[in-house]
Amino acid sequence: MAAMVGSSDWGGKAGLLLGLSVVLGQGDSVSGVVCYCDGHCPDNAENGTCIGQIGSQCFSAVEEVYIRETNTFEAERTYGCLPPDEQGFMQCKGHLVPHRQGKSILCCNNTDLCNKHLNPNYIVRSTPRPSLGYDDTIPTIALIVSITVCLIVFLLIVTFVYLRFKRREDRRRLCLMQNTHNCDPYLANSGTLQELIDQSSGSGSGLPLLVQRTIAKQIQMVQSIGKGRYGEVWLARWRGEKVAVKVFFTTEEASWFRETEIYQTVLMRHENILGFIAADIKGTGSWTQMLLITDYHENGSLHDYLQTHVLDTSSLLSLALSAASGVAHLHTEIFGTRGKPAISHRDIKSKNILVKRNGQCAIADFGLAVRYISESNEIDIAPNTRVGTRRYMAPEVLDESLNTTAFESFKMADMYSLGLVFWEMCRRCATGDKLSTAEDYQLPYFDCVHSDPSFEDMHEVVCIKRIRPQIPTRWQSEEVLRTLAKVMQECWHPNPVVRLTALRVKKTLCKLDADSTVKIV
Ligand code: ADP
Ligand code: MG
Repeated sequence: MAAMVGSSDWGGKAGLLLGLSVVLGQGDSVSGVVCYCDGHCPDNAENGTCIGQIGSQCFSAVEEVYIRETNTFEAERTYGCLPPDEQGFMQCKGHLVPHRQGKSILCCNNTDLCNKHLNPNYIVRSTPRPSLGYDDTIPTIALIVSITVCLIVFLLIVTFVYLRFKRREDRRRLCLMQNTHNCDPYLANSGTLQELIDQSSGSGSGLPLLVQRTIAKQIQMVQSIGKGRYGEVWLARWRGEKVAVKVFFTTEEASWFRETEIYQTVLMRHENILGFIAADIKGTGSWTQMLLITDYHENGSLHDYLQTHVLDTSSLLSLALSAASGVAHLHTEIFGTRGKPAISHRDIKSKNILVKRNGQCAIADFGLAVRYISESNEIDIAPNTRVGTRRYMAPEVLDESLNTTAFESFKMADMYSLGLVFWEMCRRCATGDKLSTAEDYQLPYFDCVHSDPSFEDMHEVVCIKRIRPQIPTRWQSEEVLRTLAKVMQECWHPNPVVRLTALRVKKTLCKLDADSTVKIV
């Protein structure tokens, strides 16, 4: 019977090979048992046998190996000689230590080739991993790729954040270097005025007050461009951008205050209302300068524009519709926690309307405006003594029958003035192909009163004689002029209640605009 020493812990192939290095080949002088060999045969082995030294053992080993293709374990059996010394022999006593799965060895030395039929048992390893049906390397590659992508994205984000921070810091330093006392970090990081305004609260009530003050300090006046009754308007530059600066006369503080207040009303911003930028008050003791900074419009006021430009019907419609839209926005109350009160302008005239580069109007000069707070049913009349422009005053203002406790009356008076502005526009619109068909520019009632009419003059013309600007017959030949003629007459009706509202005018002109666009297409 074979002297069997079983073990599963025999040190693996490395151990075997070490042991086999001292196994003698065929023809060694001192020989012991002849063993069957397979898988561990010495170089000079003959007929699948090896000869061990005296005291050597023959072994039969088995090990489970994983077959990737079939996803199974298979038993691999090897045979050979084990030298008598140290671990090679010790491996045959491996059964004395706890078993390991998947491998085992048995030894014998009682007869030559005794190991050929030794079948060491082993504990079968746990079931192989279930095959996913594709190469196992794919998930590993996917993992590596996603980690790399994440790393690259992370590095890009870090770089971007760093560059932004650095640019900000550089700007701040530059700003501090150039103008130490005028530096506001908010402004240091800003781009254009438009960007600044877009960044600010979003409530439409303007920039933070500190920012406004800083802008006002950094303004450079260029030239005077207009004079009203309450101030002088300048073209100025802020960081290379053109802006308009209204410098109020020292006596007109109330007007400055009122206009600033109105511009800072929540949701006041609108494309047909002059864009407010900043307000500031400078000076010491007896001397004060009050500034109001707004967008600059190179075309100037509608009054100036109409003197030098003849309109076609589409530009007339654009001017009239945008003016009506501006007034409609002013008049409309927007409800909500941050809503907008209804506002009445009280000084609508062609000198207080600016013409933008895109041919649309922007309503300006809010020194006389009133707001209506519907919650408390209160009209916050400005505490200044200013009254509107006499030429444009509605009959109820002239005969002082306007009910100052009803806000609607202020809106109706505005509509009267807007009707007169429409008349000024229409005179300058040519019909047919000839520019000469347009009437020359004139102020309303140019043929009834002199250049600076008194209250009484206007009262007599408008209230007593009930005169209104004359409508030329040629206007009937063209749809836009015909519609506007009708609109203006409904606006300057002696009875305020039957006048059109700004919203109604806007809708009528919008429809006309849509129809004319369809016709062109
Ligand atoms: P006032 O309150 O003194 O009447 P306005 O605001 O009406 O002042 O401005 C007076 C004039 O200055 C206007 O009629 C117009 O010619 C010119 N003007 C005012 N604001 C601007 C502006 N933003 N861009 C270009 N011109 C302007
Ligand atoms: Mg004015």
